[in-house]
Amino acid sequence: MSDPFTTSPAASRFLRYVTFDTRSDEHSTSSPSTEGQLVLMRALVDELRAIGISDAALDDYGYIMATIPATIQKDVPVIGLIAHVDTSPEMSGRNIRPILHERYDGRDLVLPDDPSAVLRLSENPELGDQMGHDIITASGSTLLGADDKAGVAEIMAAAEHLMTHPEIPHGRIRIAFTPDEEVGLGTAHFYITRFGARFAYTLDGGSRGDLEIENFSADAMTLTFHGVNFHPGWAKDRMISALKLAAEFVHRLPRNGLSPETTEGYEGYVHPHLLHGAVERATIKILLRDFRTGGLAEKARMLSHLANEVIRPYPAASVEVHVEESYRNMKDVLDRHPEVVEHAKEAIRRCGLTPRMRPIRGGTDGARLSYMGVPTPNLFAGEHNLHSRLEWVSVQDMDKAVEVIVQICRRWAE
Ligand SMILES: [Zn+2]
Repeated sequence: MSDPFTTSPAASRFLRYVTFDTRSDEHSTSSPSTEGQLVLMRALVDELRAIGISDAALDDYGYIMATIPATIQKDVPVIGLIAHVDTSPEMSGRNIRPILHERYDGRDLVLPDDPSAVLRLSENPELGDQMGHDIITASGSTLLGADDKAGVAEIMAAAEHLMTHPEIPHGRIRIAFTPDEEVGLGTAHFYITRFGARFAYTLDGGSRGDLEIENFSADAMTLTFHGVNFHPGWAKDRMISALKLAAEFVHRLPRNGLSPETTEGYEGYVHPHLLHGAVERATIKILLRDFRTGGLAEKARMLSHLANEVIRPYPAASVEVHVEESYRNMKDVLDRHPEVVEHAKEAIRRCGLTPRMRPIRGGTDGARLSYMGVPTPNLFAGEHNLHSRLEWVSVQDMDKAVEVIVQICRRWAE
């Protein structure tokens, strides 16, 4: 089979980037977590310099920062463009063989390395918007890595376009390529001051036109039940099993709502995801999620009340409640800077698309950056079926994302 070829500047970069194995590793203690990410990073620095971005540099933690100089004198805010180079460790990312399926017409896309890996329109309704487009998939045994090499390729293509068209008016643009997003460390060593952007956009979203401006607020709760242990042969009326208290607590959690398996859209949940218990002591770890930050405290109170109900019949038992902040909804920050979202919406419209806002049922690096002082919504990059061997992206969506980036840079300069 010949190498896939496309005339799209973003997609042709993308086809190259996905062949780098950049899986991050949650068990690693180094930054970045894997050497493979650095290999791609070094190649990206060379490519940035080749298009004339002379200050492109890779730091010791595996972050690239680079500048597209302003083309106008006017004082406009510095805007950042961000994407992550790592891919999810959940799925093999070695020897990725991208396949270009030209002029999609609704047919089944069979991935050659595994005949059971078939991308069907009936199971992927979003393919319905892709008629006539060119779809890129992996070959069936690995993920593709569109998350987030699509974003990386789009930023690179937009940077090249801006560097070769100095007649396009825009302010100073900063680019950051980050490691380890998939293991939750994408902002761990992000040097905000050196980045120097006032506002930024991550390119790490789905369908064309999508603009993500709100995500869960999240806390992590730990409940520790303390029981009373005795030799089981002589335990009558004396033993209190912490393990059974914990089980009783889990049993009494709401069934028809407030759980990941029964909620969607803007609904929050409480999610016990780990139970570690013995007679003396049992610990439950619970994720609290709500789009309203205030809703987290309500959920924590509800659970704490429930835990106390469970131990009430046993005066010798006790429960400790500990709540730790995980991340917060970026909307609370973005609402104070409406122009960040407005300019993105207007740029999307200027590219002939309808902006579509969807709540993210998780956290993003942009949310963390927003709370670090750089309001950062997430733009579509064309990624679908993330972390799966059925991952796909369309060439035409990638081109649209490049157009949107260029329009955003223009918009901020108006
Ligand atoms: Zn991503």
